[in-house]
Amino acid sequence: MARQLFTARLERKLLLSDPAQCFHLEFSIDELEKFDFIAGQFVSTVANDANGKSQTRAYSIASAPRANQFDLCVNRVENGFFSNLLCDLEPGQTVPFHGPHGLFTLRQPLTEAIFIATGTGIAPMRGFVEWLFPESGEDRSQGRPIWLVYGTRYTTEIYYQKYFEKIAAERHNFHYVSSLSRQNEGWEGLRGYVQEHVARIVTERASRNHSAPVVTVAEPAGFDIHAYICGLNDMVSANRDKLTELGWERKQIIFERYD
Ligand SMILES: Cc1cc2nc3c(=O)[nH]c(=O)nc-3n(C[C@H](O)[C@H](O)[C@H](O)COP(=O)(O)OP(=O)(O)OC[C@H]3O[C@@H](n4cnc5c(N)ncnc54)[C@H](O)[C@@H]3O)c2cc1C
Repeated sequence: MARQLFTARLERKLLLSDPAQCFHLEFSIDELEKFDFIAGQFVSTVANDANGKSQTRAYSIASAPRANQFDLCVNRVENGFFSNLLCDLEPGQTVPFHGPHGLFTLRQPLTEAIFIATGTGIAPMRGFVEWLFPESGEDRSQGRPIWLVYGTRYTTEIYYQKYFEKIAAERHNFHYVSSLSRQNEGWEGLRGYVQEHVARIVTERASRNHSAPVVTVAEPAGFDIHAYICGLNDMVSANRDKLTELGWERKQIIFERYD
Protein backbone atom coordinates (compact mmCIF):
# COMPACT_ATOMS: atom_id res chain seq x y z
CA MET A 1 0.00 0.00 0.00
CA ALA A 2 1.34 3.44 -0.94
CA ARG A 3 2.22 5.55 2.06
CA GLN A 4 0.51 8.89 2.45
CA LEU A 5 2.84 11.71 1.55
CA PHE A 6 2.70 15.08 3.27
CA THR A 7 4.33 18.36 2.33
CA ALA A 8 6.85 19.80 4.79
CA ARG A 9 7.39 23.52 4.25
CA LEU A 10 10.57 25.02 5.64
CA GLU A 11 9.71 27.89 8.01
CA ARG A 12 13.06 28.60 9.61
CA LYS A 13 16.63 27.54 9.07
CA LEU A 14 19.51 27.99 11.51
CA LEU A 15 23.13 27.12 10.94
CA LEU A 16 24.19 25.18 14.05
CA SER A 17 27.76 24.68 12.92
CA ASP A 18 29.55 26.09 9.91
CA PRO A 19 32.55 23.71 9.99
CA ALA A 20 30.26 20.69 10.35
CA GLN A 21 27.64 22.20 8.02
CA CYS A 22 24.87 21.23 10.37
CA PHE A 23 21.46 22.90 10.19
CA HIS A 24 18.43 23.16 12.42
CA LEU A 25 15.37 23.13 10.15
CA GLU A 26 11.83 23.97 11.26
CA PHE A 27 8.98 22.75 9.08
CA SER A 28 5.22 23.08 9.06
CA ILE A 29 3.00 20.61 7.24
CA ASP A 30 0.70 22.05 4.59
CA GLU A 31 -2.01 19.39 4.84
CA LEU A 32 -2.27 19.05 8.63
CA GLU A 33 -3.38 21.16 11.56
CA LYS A 34 -1.78 18.77 14.00
CA PHE A 35 1.08 16.34 13.45
CA ASP A 36 0.76 13.41 15.85
CA PHE A 37 3.97 11.68 16.73
CA ILE A 38 5.86 10.47 19.76
CA ALA A 39 9.07 12.25 20.68
CA GLY A 40 12.03 10.32 19.26
CA GLN A 41 10.34 9.11 16.06
CA PHE A 42 11.57 9.93 12.55
CA VAL A 43 10.13 11.08 9.24
CA SER A 44 11.08 9.70 5.82
CA THR A 45 11.72 12.40 3.26
CA VAL A 46 11.23 11.57 -0.40
CA ALA A 47 12.60 13.14 -3.59
CA ASN A 48 13.80 12.20 -7.05
CA ASP A 49 17.52 12.23 -7.70
CA ALA A 50 19.22 13.49 -10.88
CA ASN A 51 18.35 10.21 -12.64
CA GLY A 52 14.69 10.55 -11.76
CA LYS A 53 14.98 7.74 -9.22
CA SER A 54 12.92 8.14 -6.06
CA GLN A 55 15.10 8.40 -2.96
CA THR A 56 13.94 8.14 0.64
CA ARG A 57 15.94 8.96 3.78
CA ALA A 58 15.07 8.84 7.46
CA TYR A 59 15.53 11.89 9.72
CA SER A 60 14.85 11.90 13.44
CA ILE A 61 12.44 14.55 14.59
CA ALA A 62 14.39 17.01 16.72
CA SER A 63 11.39 18.41 18.58
CA ALA A 64 8.46 17.39 20.73
CA PRO A 65 5.00 17.47 19.14
CA ARG A 66 4.01 21.09 18.40
CA ALA A 67 0.87 21.80 16.33
CA ASN A 68 1.57 20.90 12.67
CA GLN A 69 5.31 21.46 12.97
CA PHE A 70 8.48 19.48 13.43
CA ASP A 71 12.19 20.25 13.52
CA LEU A 72 15.12 18.38 11.99
CA CYS A 73 18.84 18.53 12.69
CA VAL A 74 20.73 17.61 9.53
CA ASN A 75 24.36 17.73 8.57
CA ARG A 76 25.74 17.61 5.07
CA VAL A 77 27.30 14.31 4.10
CA GLU A 78 29.95 14.70 1.44
CA ASN A 79 28.40 13.86 -1.94
CA GLY A 80 25.27 12.77 -0.11
CA PHE A 81 22.04 13.28 -2.01
CA PHE A 82 19.42 13.99 0.58
CA SER A 83 21.39 15.69 3.30
CA ASN A 84 22.52 18.32 0.78
CA LEU A 85 19.02 18.73 -0.61
CA LEU A 86 17.70 19.45 2.90
CA CYS A 87 20.58 21.69 3.90
CA ASP A 88 20.10 23.71 0.68
CA LEU A 89 16.38 24.28 1.26
CA GLU A 90 15.37 27.89 1.83
CA PRO A 91 12.34 29.07 3.83
CA GLY A 92 9.15 28.62 1.81
CA GLN A 93 10.49 25.60 -0.09
CA THR A 94 8.99 22.17 0.48
CA VAL A 95 9.92 18.50 0.69
CA PRO A 96 7.53 15.53 0.65
CA PHE A 97 7.69 13.05 3.53
CA HIS A 98 5.86 10.19 5.13
CA GLY A 99 5.72 9.25 8.78
CA PRO A 100 6.03 9.41 11.68
CA HIS A 101 7.86 6.11 12.01
CA GLY A 102 9.99 4.26 14.52
CA LEU A 103 10.11 2.81 17.99
CA PHE A 104 12.88 4.96 19.41
CA THR A 105 10.56 6.44 22.01
CA LEU A 106 10.59 6.71 25.79
CA ARG A 107 9.45 3.50 27.44
CA GLN A 108 6.44 3.83 29.73
CA PRO A 109 6.11 3.94 32.64
CA LEU A 110 8.90 6.47 32.55
CA THR A 111 12.07 5.51 34.41
CA GLU A 112 15.35 7.16 35.17
CA ALA A 113 17.17 7.44 31.84
CA ILE A 114 20.50 8.02 30.18
CA PHE A 115 20.36 9.58 26.72
CA ILE A 116 23.55 8.89 24.78
CA ALA A 117 24.27 10.61 21.47
CA THR A 118 26.95 11.73 19.09
CA GLY A 119 26.67 14.20 16.21
CA THR A 120 23.16 14.58 14.79
CA GLY A 121 22.14 11.68 17.02
CA ILE A 122 21.26 14.55 19.35
CA ALA A 123 18.10 15.14 17.27
CA PRO A 124 15.73 12.70 19.01
CA MET A 125 17.27 13.62 22.38
CA ARG A 126 16.20 17.21 21.85
CA GLY A 127 12.71 15.82 21.20
CA PHE A 128 12.81 13.81 24.43
CA VAL A 129 14.05 16.74 26.49
CA GLU A 130 11.47 19.15 25.04
CA TRP A 131 8.77 16.63 25.83
CA LEU A 132 9.97 15.88 29.37
CA PHE A 133 10.70 19.50 30.29
CA PRO A 134 8.34 21.69 28.25
CA GLU A 135 8.87 25.43 28.36
CA SER A 136 5.27 25.88 29.35
CA GLY A 137 2.98 23.27 30.80
CA GLU A 138 3.58 20.39 33.12
CA ASP A 139 6.98 18.79 33.65
CA ARG A 140 6.63 15.16 32.52
CA SER A 141 9.86 13.85 34.02
CA GLN A 142 8.22 13.01 37.37
CA GLY A 143 11.43 14.17 39.03
CA ARG A 144 13.33 11.15 37.68
CA PRO A 145 17.03 11.69 37.04
CA ILE A 146 17.65 12.14 33.32
CA TRP A 147 21.18 12.21 31.93
CA LEU A 148 22.20 13.43 28.51
CA VAL A 149 25.70 12.33 27.52
CA TYR A 150 26.71 13.95 24.26
CA GLY A 151 29.90 13.29 22.38
CA THR A 152 31.38 15.27 19.51
CA ARG A 153 34.82 15.75 18.09
CA TYR A 154 35.11 19.53 18.43
CA THR A 155 33.42 22.35 20.33
CA THR A 156 31.93 23.57 17.03
CA GLU A 157 29.83 20.40 16.88
CA ILE A 158 28.11 20.67 20.26
CA TYR A 159 24.65 21.26 18.81
CA TYR A 160 21.96 22.91 20.95
CA GLN A 161 24.45 23.44 23.78
CA LYS A 162 22.74 26.58 25.15
CA TYR A 163 19.33 24.91 25.13
CA PHE A 164 20.52 21.87 27.10
CA GLU A 165 22.56 24.01 29.51
CA LYS A 166 19.49 26.12 30.20
CA ILE A 167 17.33 23.10 30.95
CA ALA A 168 20.07 21.66 33.19
CA ALA A 169 20.27 24.97 35.08
CA GLU A 170 16.50 25.10 35.54
CA ARG A 171 15.72 21.44 36.34
CA HIS A 172 17.51 19.74 39.21
CA ASN A 173 16.94 16.26 37.74
CA PHE A 174 18.35 16.95 34.26
CA HIS A 175 22.10 16.42 33.91
CA TYR A 176 23.91 17.44 30.76
CA VAL A 177 27.37 16.09 30.00
CA SER A 178 29.24 16.89 26.80
CA SER A 179 32.57 15.41 25.92
CA LEU A 180 35.05 16.00 23.12
CA SER A 181 36.93 13.18 21.46
CA ARG A 182 39.56 15.40 19.79
CA GLN A 183 41.92 18.03 21.10
CA ASN A 184 40.36 21.46 21.46
CA GLU A 185 42.44 24.21 22.99
CA GLY A 186 40.66 26.08 25.73
CA TRP A 187 38.09 23.35 26.34
CA GLU A 188 37.89 22.75 30.07
CA GLY A 189 35.08 20.24 29.94
CA LEU A 190 35.18 16.47 29.62
CA ARG A 191 37.16 14.55 27.03
CA GLY A 192 36.98 11.08 25.63
CA TYR A 193 34.33 8.82 24.19
CA VAL A 194 30.80 8.87 25.53
CA GLN A 195 30.87 5.26 26.73
CA GLU A 196 33.58 6.17 29.27
CA HIS A 197 31.30 8.78 30.84
CA VAL A 198 28.29 6.51 30.62
CA ALA A 199 30.24 3.81 32.49
CA ARG A 200 31.16 6.29 35.21
CA ILE A 201 27.58 7.50 35.64
CA VAL A 202 26.24 3.95 35.79
CA THR A 203 28.91 2.74 38.22
CA GLU A 204 28.50 5.73 40.54
CA ARG A 205 24.75 5.28 40.48
CA ALA A 206 25.07 1.59 41.36
CA SER A 207 27.34 2.31 44.29
CA ARG A 208 24.98 5.06 45.49
CA ASN A 209 22.10 2.63 45.38
CA HIS A 210 24.17 -0.04 47.18
CA SER A 211 22.35 -2.68 45.21
CA ALA A 212 22.49 -4.79 42.10
CA PRO A 213 23.19 -2.27 39.37
CA VAL A 214 19.94 -2.01 37.50
CA VAL A 215 17.16 -4.53 37.84
CA THR A 216 14.93 -3.95 40.84
CA VAL A 217 11.96 -6.15 40.09
CA ALA A 218 11.39 -9.00 37.70
CA GLU A 219 9.92 -8.40 34.26
CA PRO A 220 7.36 -7.33 33.23
CA ALA A 221 7.20 -4.88 36.14
CA GLY A 222 10.31 -3.51 34.56
CA PHE A 223 13.63 -1.83 35.00
CA ASP A 224 14.36 1.25 37.02
CA ILE A 225 16.59 2.80 34.36
CA HIS A 226 16.87 2.72 30.56
CA ALA A 227 19.50 3.92 28.12
CA TYR A 228 18.56 5.52 24.80
CA ILE A 229 21.41 5.60 22.30
CA CYS A 230 21.44 7.37 18.93
CA GLY A 231 24.13 7.89 16.33
CA LEU A 232 26.40 5.93 14.04
CA ASN A 233 26.64 2.18 14.46
CA ASP A 234 30.15 2.05 15.99
CA MET A 235 29.17 4.36 18.80
CA VAL A 236 25.88 2.56 19.39
CA SER A 237 27.68 -0.81 19.58
CA ALA A 238 30.40 0.51 21.88
CA ASN A 239 27.78 1.78 24.33
CA ARG A 240 25.64 -1.34 24.16
CA ASP A 241 28.73 -3.47 24.82
CA LYS A 242 29.78 -1.28 27.73
CA LEU A 243 26.34 -1.39 29.36
CA THR A 244 26.08 -5.15 28.86
CA GLU A 245 29.50 -5.53 30.50
CA LEU A 246 28.14 -3.55 33.43
CA GLY A 247 25.28 -6.01 33.84
CA TRP A 248 22.52 -4.28 31.89
CA GLU A 249 19.93 -6.33 30.05
CA ARG A 250 19.24 -5.91 26.35
CA LYS A 251 15.73 -4.62 26.90
CA GLN A 252 17.04 -1.75 28.96
CA ILE A 253 18.96 -0.44 26.01
CA ILE A 254 16.97 1.25 23.26
CA PHE A 255 18.87 2.45 20.24
CA GLU A 256 18.63 4.11 16.83
CA ARG A 257 21.39 3.64 14.26
CA TYR A 258 21.91 6.16 11.51
CA ASP A 259 24.08 3.92 9.29
C1 LIG B 1 16.32 6.25 11.68
C2 LIG B 1 17.33 7.21 11.10
C3 LIG B 1 17.32 8.54 11.52
C4 LIG B 1 18.24 9.44 10.98
N1 LIG B 1 18.23 10.73 11.44
C5 LIG B 1 19.13 11.62 10.97
C6 LIG B 1 19.16 12.95 11.48
O1 LIG B 1 18.37 13.34 12.37
N2 LIG B 1 20.07 13.81 10.96
C7 LIG B 1 20.96 13.42 9.99
O2 LIG B 1 21.75 14.27 9.56
N3 LIG B 1 20.96 12.16 9.52
C8 LIG B 1 20.06 11.26 9.97
N4 LIG B 1 20.05 9.98 9.46
C9 LIG B 1 20.93 9.65 8.33
C10 LIG B 1 20.19 10.00 7.01
O3 LIG B 1 19.07 9.14 6.83
C11 LIG B 1 21.07 9.86 5.78
O4 LIG B 1 21.66 8.59 5.77
C12 LIG B 1 22.16 10.90 5.70
O5 LIG B 1 21.59 12.21 5.69
C13 LIG B 1 22.96 10.71 4.40
O6 LIG B 1 22.06 10.70 3.33
P1 LIG B 1 22.51 11.29 1.93
O7 LIG B 1 21.39 11.02 0.95
O8 LIG B 1 22.98 12.69 2.04
O9 LIG B 1 23.78 10.42 1.58
P2 LIG B 1 23.84 9.18 0.54
O10 LIG B 1 23.69 9.75 -0.84
O11 LIG B 1 22.86 8.15 0.97
O12 LIG B 1 25.27 8.62 0.82
C14 LIG B 1 26.45 9.29 0.37
C15 LIG B 1 27.65 8.69 1.07
O13 LIG B 1 27.66 9.01 2.47
C16 LIG B 1 27.72 7.84 3.28
N5 LIG B 1 26.77 8.06 4.39
C17 LIG B 1 25.45 7.75 4.41
N6 LIG B 1 24.89 8.13 5.57
C18 LIG B 1 25.85 8.70 6.31
C19 LIG B 1 25.88 9.29 7.60
N7 LIG B 1 24.77 9.37 8.39
N8 LIG B 1 27.07 9.78 8.03
C20 LIG B 1 28.18 9.71 7.27
N9 LIG B 1 28.21 9.15 6.02
C21 LIG B 1 27.07 8.65 5.56
C22 LIG B 1 27.24 6.71 2.39
O14 LIG B 1 27.84 5.48 2.78
C23 LIG B 1 27.71 7.15 1.01
O15 LIG B 1 29.05 6.80 0.83
C24 LIG B 1 19.17 9.04 10.00
C25 LIG B 1 19.17 7.70 9.57
C26 LIG B 1 18.28 6.80 10.12
C27 LIG B 1 18.31 5.35 9.66
